[in-house]
Amino acid sequence: MNTQDYINREDKYGAHNYHPLPVVLERGEGPFVWDVEGKRYFDFLSAYSAVNQGHCHPKIIKALTEQAQRLTLTSRAFYNSVLGEYEEYITKYFKYDKVLPMNSGAEADETALKLCRKWAYKKKGIKQDKAKIICCEGNFHGRTITIVSMSTDPDARNDYGPFTPGFVIIPYNDLRALENALKDPDVAGFLVEPIQGEAGVYVPDEGYLKKSYDLCKKHNVLFIADEVQTGLGRTGKLLACDHEGVRPDILILGKALSGGVMPVSVVLADDEIMLTIKPGEHGSTFGGNALAAKVAIAALEVIKNEKLAENSERLGKIFRDEMRSIKSDMIELVRGKGLLNAVVIKPKKGKTAWDICLAMKDKGLIAKPTHEHIIRFAPPLVITEKQLREAISLIRDAFKLFE
Ligand SMILES: *Cc1c(COP(=O)(O)O)cnc(C)c1O
Repeated sequence: MNTQDYINREDKYGAHNYHPLPVVLERGEGPFVWDVEGKRYFDFLSAYSAVNQGHCHPKIIKALTEQAQRLTLTSRAFYNSVLGEYEEYITKYFKYDKVLPMNSGAEADETALKLCRKWAYKKKGIKQDKAKIICCEGNFHGRTITIVSMSTDPDARNDYGPFTPGFVIIPYNDLRALENALKDPDVAGFLVEPIQGEAGVYVPDEGYLKKSYDLCKKHNVLFIADEVQTGLGRTGKLLACDHEGVRPDILILGKALSGGVMPVSVVLADDEIMLTIKPGEHGSTFGGNALAAKVAIAALEVIKNEKLAENSERLGKIFRDEMRSIKSDMIELVRGKGLLNAVVIKPKKGKTAWDICLAMKDKGLIAKPTHEHIIRFAPPLVITEKQLREAISLIRDAFKLFE
């Protein structure tokens, strides 16, 4: 079978809910992936930042295979010998009292929303069914019906109604709008991405997170950070909120929490919030499974031991400087933090971000457009400076084809 045969098979038997770049991958190692024809690529998507630790990181795979041969799933109907170890490890790692383990990012976001509402009724004293949660235009928190109820992206919402009520949508990076919305005493939480990843790597003004946090505190509203994409070293700090010294009341993590090995997500919070949910009131069959617990510990150890946040901070600056030095009238803007970056593309003679991505693929680097005119560049954080510079020269070569 060649590349086209693989693509045809997926088209025939799989739902058409994605539009992949025409490349068929079969192996990965560190910042690289190989296609079925044996061609090597730099992976500059990192599975939407789930593979921060690099593909098939040996320490994570070791944890996976060892635990897989002992015990994988007990459900939470019973205790298991590794969940507690994981809970202790991750709560100390991020300095929260408690963790609630889930699987996908969307589930963790849903969990945070439920937790916020529970707190609203049990602690803040909002009247039943009146609690509101503020969210931002351009947000991406996943694909469930409740989550797309917060979305402002027509593709995410069209024909999926009726939607879940209880959300107030304000512009992103707009403190005045937030201040206004917070005047409503029924507001219980503010859910925000420290950088809007899927929307196209929108970095808010400096001070936005800290000031938002302070405003939330003033109104006894929970500051909920969705760090599913921005967390775990991606933006040059362990958490993107760390750039402004903000400690979210509720922290949501996913994606790289397993190093891309399996779906693992969590919600972290202190007792005052987390203990409002009582036995039987929330859960997941796979959430907190023994395999995920061991994998996540290993994935978090790699972030720390290999100083991936520091690498991301340093290489991110080099990347943005180099991209800004490319002379191409198709590059409108370069933005980002750490190794979460985007290049905004100005279409030229009918050539778009998609065409640039195809050209980069031919050169040996894969990335994908988000929202048509934006290309996100987010390599695994284990990439070295030498590898990064090699990758940048491939990107340069690809842009040259459009001059
Ligand atoms: C990817 C993402 C999610 C959803 O994660 P899934 O694992 O795909 O459900 C939620 N929030 C943010 C910020 C994301 O980038």
